[in-house]
This record gives sequence, C-alpha cells and structure tokens, in this order.
Amino acid sequence: DDVEVSVLGLGAMGSALAAALLKAGHPTTVWNRSAGKAGDLVGQGAVSVDTAGEAVRASRLVIACLLDHASVHEVLDPLAAELTGRVLVNLTTTSPAQARELAAWAADAGVEYLDGGIMAVPAMIGQPGSSILYSGSAVAFEQYKPLFDQWGASSYHGTDAGLASLYDLALLAGMYVMFAGFVHGAAMVAPAGMTAGEFAAMAAPWLTAMTGAFQEIATVVDGGDYTVAGQQSLEFSDLGDIVAASSDQGISTEVVDMVQRLIRRQIDAGHGTDGFARIVESIRQPG
Ligand code: NDP
Repeated sequence: DDVEVSVLGLGAMGSALAAALLKAGHPTTVWNRSAGKAGDLVGQGAVSVDTAGEAVRASRLVIACLLDHASVHEVLDPLAAELTGRVLVNLTTTSPAQARELAAWAADAGVEYLDGGIMAVPAMIGQPGSSILYSGSAVAFEQYKPLFDQWGASSYHGTDAGLASLYDLALLAGMYVMFAGFVHGAAMVAPAGMTAGEFAAMAAPWLTAMTGAFQEIATVVDGGDYTVAGQQSLEFSDLGDIVAASSDQGISTEVVDMVQRLIRRQIDAGHGTDGFARIVESIRQPG
C-alpha cells in the first residue's frame, strides 16, 4: 500500500505498530525522543528522522504512541501549526477526559483527530486477537481503516473522542477483576497443595464457559426488570461460604468481600429474591 505514515514514539508498542506498517508496504517515517530505537525498523525500510517536526512534515497521517497525555502535549504543542490539515491518530493511553482535551486541542489547530485504545500487547499487533477501538474523526477512520486493519480488527465508536478510551478502560476493569478472582482462587487452594499452574488449568475452561452468562445478565440489565424468571437469585448467590472458606485457608477475603458487599446491599434493601444482575444497582449507586 502506498499511504504514507509517520510514527512518533518507538517504545515497545510504537515499534510494533511501525513494523506492521512496514510489513504492509507503507512508506513509514519514524521518530523517537531518544536515539537508537529505530535501527531494526530502518532495516525493514523505515525512514528515521531526528525531530518530531520532520516526522510530522513527512506524512499527512501521523500516529502518536508515546507514554501518556503529558508526553503527547510535550511533543505536539510546538508542532500545532505544522499539524494543521493533517490527521493525528493518538494511540497513547489516556483517560477519556484527556482524549477529549486532545481532540479540542486538535480542533483548534485544524487537525483531524482520532483517538485509539489498543486492546493488545506489542507481540499481538498484526496477529489474530489484536483489536483497536477508535473514536473521534469519522472521516479519518473511514479513510485510513485499511491501514489500521494491519494492526488488528479496527472498530469505530463515535465522534466523542473520549469513547475509545472509556471502552478500553471498561474492558480492562473487567479483566483486572477477573484476574484478581483467579489469583484469589489460586490462593485458596494453595494451602491444600495445589499449585497456581494446576489451578489455572482448572480455572481457564471454567471461566471461559462462564462468559456465556454475560449476555443473560446483560439482557436483564438492559431490560431493567430483575424479577425475570430463570435467574439465579441474590440470596442464592450469597458468597458467605466462599468468604468463610477463604478465611479458613488463612487468606485475605478482600476480593470476595467486594462482591459480597454488592450483593448484600441489594438483599438488605429487600431484593433478595431478585436476580444476581441486580448488583448493577449497587454499582450505579455507590454505597
Ligand atoms: P514504552 O515505555 O516502551 O515506550 C514509551 C515511549 O514514549 C518511548 O518511545 C519514549 O521515548 C516515549 N516518551 C515517553 N515520554 C516522552 C516524552 N516526554 N516525550 C517524548 N517521548 C516520550 O511504552 P509502550 O510503547 O509499551 O507504550 C506506549 C503507549 O501505548 C502507552 O500509552 C501505553 O499505555 C500504550 N499501550 C501499551 C500496551 C503494551 O502492552 N505495551 C498495550 C496498550 C496500550 P524514549 O525512548 O525517549 O524514552
């Protein structure tokens, strides 16, 4: 493909993004704050430049994959005038508010802005399972989607530049709580002589099967009627036995206490026979 592109930031992720573009045949200009990171990419055909300004001038499409929100401003604030009329795709992790702030900054500078949330680690870029969420400029997404698809599945989530980040962080919230749940289970069985590796082999197919319940829970949450028949009730979901067994094993009960509190608030409010999905009411109304 002959779409020219510049990549700012050659950390682990920026380098993986640039390598995938080179593999797809895009003329790629790369820049990194400290020297010495472009060697492999130059070997793959990249043009390495010494300043971010040269990189911005080299291509209409500019990809930023820096450390954080502050580093994006540090690099791009002095280049606002040079970015005018170009497309900036920011794949640096930021909060939704920071993404919106950058979108406003870009709008002031006459720059088409697209924010992205990378749902992959560097080794996954360009491989199956990699996906990137985008929001912001619809025009930019449509125009460059074939290029973005070189990194993984690309999806567009609306003109509010903060949404890609919001969805990214929501998915990570689910991931971290699941990981904590897995580690808690491993700690429960450890005193009984099971290794974490043995527990992982049991837990992975179990938790994979349980993701089938997401849609059932979602149907109840979206419908807003927690009395729908066929659900597991809050009373049945009580984690008392799990908390007690964790305590008996001499480990912290924090992970399971958190879920138990969400359940208990609804039972205490008189909703014990409603379905488990009702814990969303505890989450929506902080206790
Ligand atoms: P690295 O730590 O490997 O690289 C950070 C990059 O940012 C380096 O190129 C560094 O330059 C540059 N940088 C930091 N501060 C500044 C600054 N003030 N001015 C200019 N450049 C700066 O991080 P990653 O490549 O892993 O991550 C990059 C972004 O991608 C992050 O926002 C991260 O959250 C996101 N991301 C990463 C994932 C991962 O698994 N790695 C997954 C999803 C998103 P220098 O070499 O000069 O220090």
